[in-house]
Amino acid sequence: MQDLNIDLHTHSTCSDGALAPAELVARATAAGIQVLALTDHDSVAGLEEARAAALALGVTLVPGVEISSAWRAQSIHVLGLWIDPASAPLQAALAGQAQRRTLRMQNICAQLELRGLPGKELLAAACAHPGLPTRSHLAAALVAGGHARTPDDAFRKYLGRGKAAQLASDWPALHEAVGWITAAGGIATLAHPARYRLSAGGRRQLFAEFVASGGGAVEVVAGANAAHNAEASARWATTHGLAGSVGSDFHDPQLSWNPLGRLAKLPAGVTPVWRDRLP
Ligand code: AMP
Ligand code: MN
Ligand code: MN
Ligand code: MN
Repeated sequence: MQDLNIDLHTHSTCSDGALAPAELVARATAAGIQVLALTDHDSVAGLEEARAAALALGVTLVPGVEISSAWRAQSIHVLGLWIDPASAPLQAALAGQAQRRTLRMQNICAQLELRGLPGKELLAAACAHPGLPTRSHLAAALVAGGHARTPDDAFRKYLGRGKAAQLASDWPALHEAVGWITAAGGIATLAHPARYRLSAGGRRQLFAEFVASGGGAVEVVAGANAAHNAEASARWATTHGLAGSVGSDFHDPQLSWNPLGRLAKLPAGVTPVWRDRLP
């Protein structure tokens, strides 16, 4: 059980979130969160601003990152919690991830061009942004250009599984992402495990490889509205000897499916990932 209001998975404008790091911290605090991790996609650029805001507001900021990796041709997200953002191997790895993201966005937009869409305009729009380019930015550009009704529609038509964007990802292997996080002193935490499309056997192998690589935790409560997945995820955590984390994956106050401050508690019997890290 947990007494604190904890959220260990959120995004800012340094990746595909809608709020600047300091705004995110302020909103999270107002929503009652006492321990917050900022976990931008492949970026630690927002941590300094978030840390200063958290200090001013009296909440605990957990330095984090969400690294994109690949396992058996599927993209797997690994959260790094309590990382040292100044770690040299992590910094080098994130520089590589930034390059991969830029190249991937170019490839995706070239694919869209082949499908009759204005690839160059979409590329410019997806990159006209201070943070790293993500498919969320491209989805917004597709909506703005009238090529999709909503971001979800853009994912269904162009960016989701089996569509143009899927041809173009070249993420590092899962074990590399885990290695970067542990080298930076962090706890590698498998994000939203119920979201991956895997057979039961495939999932066991994913977890086994994650643990063998040095993975330490799994997101057991992933999103405020996903309580039904928590039970299965809690089983996976205990079966594989992993600690459990809780995270909303908050991106935007206008999206109602992952609000701040409304997460379910970690189920009893799961070791909290914060056990030795929080007073
Ligand atoms: P990327 O890391 O560039 O592959 O972008 C993935 C991001 O796209 C995720 O972190 C979500 O924020 C967003 N995303 C994924 N699927 C959808 C969807 N169906 N509708 C809206 N956003 C989505
Ligand atoms: Mn995202
Ligand atoms: Mn993710
Ligand atoms: Mn996320």
